[in-house]
Amino acid sequence: MHIVHLAAEFAPIAKAGGLGEVIVGLARELSKSHSKVDVILPKYDFIETSKLLHPKLEVADFKCLESGTLHGNAMWTAENEQCRLHLLESRHRAGYFHRGKIYGCEDDIARFTYFSRAALEYLKLKKEPIDILHLHDWHVSLAAPLARDLFAADLPIKKIVLTIHNIEYQGKCASDDLDRIGLQGAAYLEKEKLQEDDPSYPKTINLLKGGIVYSDAVVAVSPTYAKEILTPEMGFHLDATLRKHKKKVCGILNGIDQKLWDPSSDPAIAAHFDSERSPSAIQTAKDEAKKALCQIYSLDAKKKPWIGAVTRLVPQKGPELLEEALRQTVKQNGIFALLGSSPIPKIQTHFEQLKIRSKNHPQLLLEFNYNEKLAHQIYAALDFLLVPSHFEPCGLTQLIAMRYGAIPIVRATGGLKDTVFDCDDGSIPIKQRNGFLFVNATVASMNQTLERAFDLFRNNPNMFQSLIRNAVKIDSSWNKPAQEYEKLYRKLVPQSAAPNHSFTDLREARGRN
Ligand code: ADP
Repeated sequence: MHIVHLAAEFAPIAKAGGLGEVIVGLARELSKSHSKVDVILPKYDFIETSKLLHPKLEVADFKCLESGTLHGNAMWTAENEQCRLHLLESRHRAGYFHRGKIYGCEDDIARFTYFSRAALEYLKLKKEPIDILHLHDWHVSLAAPLARDLFAADLPIKKIVLTIHNIEYQGKCASDDLDRIGLQGAAYLEKEKLQEDDPSYPKTINLLKGGIVYSDAVVAVSPTYAKEILTPEMGFHLDATLRKHKKKVCGILNGIDQKLWDPSSDPAIAAHFDSERSPSAIQTAKDEAKKALCQIYSLDAKKKPWIGAVTRLVPQKGPELLEEALRQTVKQNGIFALLGSSPIPKIQTHFEQLKIRSKNHPQLLLEFNYNEKLAHQIYAALDFLLVPSHFEPCGLTQLIAMRYGAIPIVRATGGLKDTVFDCDDGSIPIKQRNGFLFVNATVASMNQTLERAFDLFRNNPNMFQSLIRNAVKIDSSWNKPAQEYEKLYRKLVPQSAAPNHSFTDLREARGRN
């Protein structure tokens, strides 16, 4: 089976959050089976070609039409992570991928619609039949209508799958934006097509909606999120479209990259352990990790427990609740570690000022930038990881934390609900209980749960250790999720009933040679 992923991120070379890790993990696991897996992403200026394995210029020049002009592109390839990685180098005058960042440019719509079309131009040139074109999030959603309406005759794609990693981001634009990339924008301003579902914006095009409507399957990144996005409360106005296409919606939980997040060999951390070690040995390793951070950040080594978060600081993640938890932890004589960064200047400034005000506080480790190494060190040191999200499609940080023996305290939503099982929930077998859940995204609900967690940590060390034992044993590998994706691909393209036609066969079948 030939699967082609289009995505905006690929870790570690182009990672802004969970999406990049998911693409690598899934692609690597799928490549282990008999599938041929290609991943195409933009060649951002910050990607160091020297860090890629055997980078090669694959296609020196091919064109992509935009605003009536043909723009030059090249395609690079590298043998990364067992799949074939392709990096699209755009020579567009606007320097679409020369911005030093993945997202957050005023012309993100133009950048990613261009990428969607250019990727299809490249695939057309390659002439390899594609069983599954797998799209991730709004950035590449336009590839679905483009593939079906503009490239259908020249690009043999059997089925299209869209994974929604976060429905909050939808790529809203004007119909002109579609004209620019070669579609007749006005024709897509229809309810059944790409017209925004929010009735206040009837002239708006919604790219993610295009992905939903034109795909053969829509995957949400956890079973609970797959149900939540069908509701008006959590569907960000796309719930009606999703309910209409309900038959093709399903949920598949993400895994985490077991090589990147491996406490038995992680070069960033002070002491190593694996899931076979006893909880007390794991706690001893954690003490080493704490000691290392205490030295760097002049923290009070006698304070405990350690609680913290590694997160984008956006409204979704409950930054107001994180700030409240920080205060509670100080009051309760613990240490709070917060590593975060925000694309929203007001939030970033707010947290930076908090850091200035609490300078040299012996119970606070605060860093407001993106720091991969520190993230590893924090997971290794924490006793508890807090994820107070208002919504959370899957969430990777609770999975990473558990692998590092940190107990998650999370809001019961999305993938958090599917992976964290409360230690006081009598309906869950004791061996599965691995953390704490709170139902409402309110200070009261969270604080009650923090108190429960601190109380257990201080007064019931045996139970706390059994949570560590259960948490480190959880299977968060890509093994099972990749199998579920494969099952879905095979349902869409049954191998026996649909043998791999060659490109020429398909053209002949359509009578257009
Ligand atoms: P999302 O994709 O919504 O940001 P996830 O929980 O799915 O959230 O994934 C977040 C990923 O990004 C995790 O690997 C986490 O460790 C990492 N991360 C988030 N913020 C930072 C930061 N400031 N520095 C380093 N890593 C971060």
